[in-house]
Amino acid sequence: EEEPLPRELQVTKGDPNRKAFSVAVNRSEEIQAARIGLPVVGEEQKIMEAIYNNSVVVIWGATGSGKTTQLPQFLFESGFGSPGSPNPGLIGVTQPRRVAAVSMANRVSQELGEHAEKVSYQIRFESTASKKTAIKFMTDGILLREIADDFALRKYSIILIDEAHERSVNTDILIGMVSRIVGLRKSLSEEDPSIKPLKVVIMSATLRISDFTENPSLFRSGPPPLVQAEGRQYPVSIHFSRRTQRDYVEDAFRKVSRGHRKLPPGGMLVFLTGQNEIRQLSKRLKGAFKPTQREDTTQAKVQLSANEAPLEAEDLELGGTEMDNAGEDDYDSDLEITGLDDAEEDEGFDLGEEAMDSSTRVHVLPLYSQLPTKEQMKVFEAPPENSRLIILATNVAETSLTIPGIKYVFDCGRSKEKQFDLYTGVQSFQIGWISKASANQRAGRAGRTGPGHCYRMYSSAVYEADFAEYTDPEILRTPIEGVVLQMKSMGLHNVINFPFPTPPSRQGLAKAEKLLKNLGALSADGQVTQIGRRLSTYPLSPRFSKMLHIGHQHGCMPYVIALVAALAVGDLFVLQNQLDQPKIQNKKNDSDSDSDSDTERKVYTNADRIEDTEREQKSKAQARAHRLFSKHDDTSDALKSLSAICAYGYASDGDAFADQMFLRGKAFKEATQLRHQLTDIVRSNNPGLVPTYTPRLPEPSTKQIKALKQIVTAGFIDQVAIRADLAPVPPEIPRAPRRAIDVPYLTLFRSRDGKGTDLVERAVYVHPSSLLAKLTPKEMPQYITYSHLQQSAALVGDQIPKIRMFPLVVPSGLQLSAIAHETPLVE
Ligand code: ADP
Ligand code: MG
Repeated sequence: EEEPLPRELQVTKGDPNRKAFSVAVNRSEEIQAARIGLPVVGEEQKIMEAIYNNSVVVIWGATGSGKTTQLPQFLFESGFGSPGSPNPGLIGVTQPRRVAAVSMANRVSQELGEHAEKVSYQIRFESTASKKTAIKFMTDGILLREIADDFALRKYSIILIDEAHERSVNTDILIGMVSRIVGLRKSLSEEDPSIKPLKVVIMSATLRISDFTENPSLFRSGPPPLVQAEGRQYPVSIHFSRRTQRDYVEDAFRKVSRGHRKLPPGGMLVFLTGQNEIRQLSKRLKGAFKPTQREDTTQAKVQLSANEAPLEAEDLELGGTEMDNAGEDDYDSDLEITGLDDAEEDEGFDLGEEAMDSSTRVHVLPLYSQLPTKEQMKVFEAPPENSRLIILATNVAETSLTIPGIKYVFDCGRSKEKQFDLYTGVQSFQIGWISKASANQRAGRAGRTGPGHCYRMYSSAVYEADFAEYTDPEILRTPIEGVVLQMKSMGLHNVINFPFPTPPSRQGLAKAEKLLKNLGALSADGQVTQIGRRLSTYPLSPRFSKMLHIGHQHGCMPYVIALVAALAVGDLFVLQNQLDQPKIQNKKNDSDSDSDSDTERKVYTNADRIEDTEREQKSKAQARAHRLFSKHDDTSDALKSLSAICAYGYASDGDAFADQMFLRGKAFKEATQLRHQLTDIVRSNNPGLVPTYTPRLPEPSTKQIKALKQIVTAGFIDQVAIRADLAPVPPEIPRAPRRAIDVPYLTLFRSRDGKGTDLVERAVYVHPSSLLAKLTPKEMPQYITYSHLQQSAALVGDQIPKIRMFPLVVPSGLQLSAIAHETPLVE
């Protein structure tokens, strides 16, 4: 017997051949007008038919064509997510980035007018989901967690996997998972008619989808159909530079300045690689032109980070450790620059239209992933009247967010990518050329509201010679121990046979399994152990989970939780090299450049001197503040983070405290949320083991500090470096090191030669940002547990770039043998 339909459900359009249901939505005229022009709206019938007739559909449409905002609404209108309809389960939409999950949920909610409350989002630290939710936006990490809880995803009737072209690890795994869940739900529904089959839509902004459509292991019932939403993109004129400047931030300043003076009204979007560059350019533009008066809180607050990974470690840390990545910003990138040409350049700013009055104010807004959400959302607000909107963004703005009113794109052609050497475990942040696909995405951002222009800060020769067609999927560039453990504990033992869109390398898999065995998470024959099952319940890298697992000695658990939160969030401190650079140095650079810009600074003025003095004081204050956090233990960087977390917990005004102590407020907020979340998980795993969460945590005792060092080392048991001159076979050391950062340590690497199997030893050195760098060479400890290795360009004075380690703690030999007793250090 059929239940009566809720009144809001009526029989109308959708699929005429079926008894379809629909939910009426009344949109405001303004919203309606904006939707009509979207390519995806023009293809509604075609898209919905494909979804009705297939369990998996791939939709391709250029960025801005309406995929993310419109598809969930089509589905909602045809009954998906509404109780009583044939598809009452939720509409789930996944995003690789938190920013996109939040802002897209807000936009769709707004477009749905009276049904606004049917839309919610869930990200690692926040959820707006309620009983009324029909459409849930979330990061792909959140959905992976939900799969671990219910492999059939019974809550959902349809999953939209967005931005699939970005090929993040989580997205790739998710696609592999849902390809199996679709089959499972089909057989479940055949047994139990109350369970509906699951539908899946994969959405991509590029046509590089053959990894999904032509992968025989992925969708067994044959390749899913592709629906194309014809882009009604306005034409974008591409202007290549004649020259490719090495200093592209400088180049961007010159080009944007000239563009502002010469170009007709229209918003500008400038692509850079990281937030330090964005801050630098923002400051210079605001100095050169009159900024708008709208309050810009980012100026007042110190929000610095060197870590501007293109994809953040989002809600499920499947990858490696997201540690203090500070420091990679102070090295020069080594870019191959070609295509230099001395001819006079036509920059393409003369469009034959009337330029904007050059006294027009500039409305400069930053946009990058670590910016507080509230600040990020400002790019969607209309700029003040009679101003030019200038958005300075990382590749966050490349495909996920559509910023209204952009007519001009300035593309530096580079991005900062986390690279990870699967053989050696050495990670690095490299600024490198983007792919042609990315360059075209960036250019496309100029053609949303009308014909636009893209100014490429590189030559067509560089573009042709050095740009790859597409970027490699992330799974080929990242540690995957979290992925492997997650899969094994879901019962997918044979990871090598998992239907990955692009399978990870054998070396990557082998390295992950070896670490998991060392952590005790896998047995010798690769089966998940009791410990492994435990570890997989934490939304963390297995290393951190291991620390929590053994954290209940000497009342250490609250400290271990705080420490793990600190390390997992990373980048807690504003570092010396992230304070503004002295003017006296800038002056030198400026006079070197052949700029014809009249806003260029040429002299070192009295005002500069005063600024430099202030900066020097600031730098001293920073050093003094940070010293307070290492007063109990001046050799362990990890315990310095813990101290800072403890101190922050006592502050009545966290933000003020962070500013005063040169801490990154956003990171501390996240760490606090993570502490809370982890406390809850530990409590639910072992009731009574820790008290309920409280931010206040007194400094650990001496005994606890000792235990904490051992606990940290247990999580990083394969990352202990031994002082080279004390090692059994010391390598050749040319001369006695003069600085602590020149003292060689040995660690075990898997050799790249010798078919990747034999072990060779290579020297590594402490990173200058570590507390240990302040010691004398003689004081340097015998052992150092480190979080990761990084290969960077040479520091001044180094002939060849050294591999630098980021130390965590200094364990004693006794502690090491105690740990090794349980898990062997070297196989
Ligand atoms: P896609 O997912 O295909 O890239 P979207 O659905 O994100 O496209 O965007 C479709 C259109 O909706 C954009 O072109 C833009 O004009 C509009 N839009 C999206 N988000 C907002 C917003 N926050 N404010 C105003 N307009 C928006
Ligand atoms: Mg989108």
